[in-house]
Amino acid sequence: MGQILTEVLSANQAYVENFGNKGNLTIPPARKFAILTCMDARLDPAKFAGLAEGDAHVIRNAGGRASDDAIRSLVISYKLLGTREWFVIHHTNCGMETFTDKVMRNLLANSLKTAKIDATGWHDVGSGEGSGEAEFIDWLTIGEQAESVYADVKRIRNHPLVPREIPIYGYLYDVQIGKLIEIPEAIEIGKAS
Ligand code: ZN
Repeated sequence: MGQILTEVLSANQAYVENFGNKGNLTIPPARKFAILTCMDARLDPAKFAGLAEGDAHVIRNAGGRASDDAIRSLVISYKLLGTREWFVIHHTNCGMETFTDKVMRNLLANSLKTAKIDATGWHDVGSGEGSGEAEFIDWLTIGEQAESVYADVKRIRNHPLVPREIPIYGYLYDVQIGKLIEIPEAIEIGKAS
């Protein structure tokens, strides 16, 4: 068995032993809110936002972007499971700022091996072959952090399947100090009405 697999199964065994009565939790989140955030390994929403099992929905993708699929989850979150407040949380030093669609498409067209980044940008160090399929994916990269939070809150706010009474809060998580920083323009456009 691989080392990671062994570690994960061992950690899970310890978790099971202290699982307590969490089997009684219900499907709808008890605190009725949802967080859309980045998959970055440094972000732990349960810790930075004080969540326990059963408290809230956490929807994650690369960048914490308001993709069609993130919106699909948010709509299910309120329509079937009753959440009433949403957070969009991007973060400082996000990997999604380090490339563009064009860069990603070129990298993947060359090779499926892991690329490397240096002062001049991303480079393929592995062998081919790659795939042109990357041309058909919008990678939802990030140009400027506050602008991306604003754009995503705005998209969710204006979506026809999202009710006006759900407030959407836009924040940036600072990976240096663990703090949530308000993005005023995003908070403004995300207001409930
Ligand atoms: Zn990120």
